Amino acid sequence: MRPDWDVVETETIARLQAIIQFNTTNPPGNELPLARYLDDALRSEGIETVLLEPTKNRAQLYARIRGNGAKRPVILLAHMDVVGVERENWSCDPFAGEIRDGYLYGRGAIDDKGMLAANLMTMLTLKRSLAKSDETLSRDVVFIATSDEEGGGEWGMGWLVDQYPQLLDAEFAINEGGRTRIIQDGCTYLAVQSAEKISHVVTVTAHGTGGHAAVPLPDNSIFRLARALETLSRYAEPVMLTETTRRFFASLADIWPEATEREAMTDLVSGVPAKVERGARVLSRSNVFNAVLRNGISPAIVSGGEAHNVIPASASALLNVRTLPGQSIEEVVRRMQAVVSEPGVTIEITSRGREAPASDPDSAMFRAIAGACHELDPAIAVVPYLSTGVTDSARLRQLGVQAYGILPFPMAESDERRMHAADERVPLASLHFGTRLIFGAIERIAR
Ligand SMILES: [Zn+2]
Repeated sequence: MRPDWDVVETETIARLQAIIQFNTTNPPGNELPLARYLDDALRSEGIETVLLEPTKNRAQLYARIRGNGAKRPVILLAHMDVVGVERENWSCDPFAGEIRDGYLYGRGAIDDKGMLAANLMTMLTLKRSLAKSDETLSRDVVFIATSDEEGGGEWGMGWLVDQYPQLLDAEFAINEGGRTRIIQDGCTYLAVQSAEKISHVVTVTAHGTGGHAAVPLPDNSIFRLARALETLSRYAEPVMLTETTRRFFASLADIWPEATEREAMTDLVSGVPAKVERGARVLSRSNVFNAVLRNGISPAIVSGGEAHNVIPASASALLNVRTLPGQSIEEVVRRMQAVVSEPGVTIEITSRGREAPASDPDSAMFRAIAGACHELDPAIAVVPYLSTGVTDSARLRQLGVQAYGILPFPMAESDERRMHAADERVPLASLHFGTRLIFGAIERIAR
């Protein structure tokens, strides 16, 4: 298949602008008009679609290009909703799709409407290419656009999993959740998310004697809570490498521009205990690396006390604890209990995340993504990646779909940080790279 990429690029830009112009700020979302736009675009080219409306003004758009059924389907997934904007911090209208200096600006340009446009163009380009040839696909290519991802997915992927699990029957899926990061001087890596951390809530509660604040008490529950949290602030879970993170650091070690971190990556995956420890110590100085090397503990809410002159009998803190795949939250809590010696303090799990298996970093899908990437730029390192954030891919993995998260637009960290922030934008050249990457990966896996 040899699409005319000049034509595709012009259309991709116009499509992304149109998609951004639907204001799908969630809440309330209002994704239905955008779903109708996608439905029209796909149906007018003869692609079969199903428009599902879980509740008023919310929608999932489902489309399918049929193959011969020799292999199980592959899903292209993106969400239609976006997070809100603080208009005063934007240099342009966040819902206009303005083009300036080689960038397309707008809320959702990189999360996740850029991929939505690239997925749509992949479907249209695939359908047009098939019409001109006598080729058939070995598997169905399924396009899904969901609502409510930014709101937790109750009206999006959560609803789809509950109501229409048969629509999600697939061997592979490509979703958001990775990155294509330009580090410096064009040195770039494509992180393909194949696993994610699991998010739990742990509550630390301190008990003491309640009473009038006029008489200070040594067992004041707030002091107790503060001491317990102070101890936890100095505690770090042990470093644990998973198959995903071991490969991540081993591959990055080949291309990483900064010498100290590069050596640390090599040490970390050496298997020699003293070197592993040294590597982990250096890499843990980076908050992001630290978060993928161990289970993480972040206090998020503190509560206790009602009146300025009353000592409360208890005070508590909610901790967001994120475990690496395969790690037991019970054991994390046991280790926390062992380091906190403060009397009158309990540590309990109040909400438990659900484990999802990691996707195989050696699968045909992973190789298809890497192959498509290397055809576009052989110098890019393609690495499996464990994300600290949670995506809809976890729900797919729980259903047995091998999902891979990408952000296929090469960007420096400064541009990536505009996600959920002001002046979100995608470089036009990166938008086109991403569209070709997704098309190339689908072409490889569905042939
Ligand atoms: Zn997103």
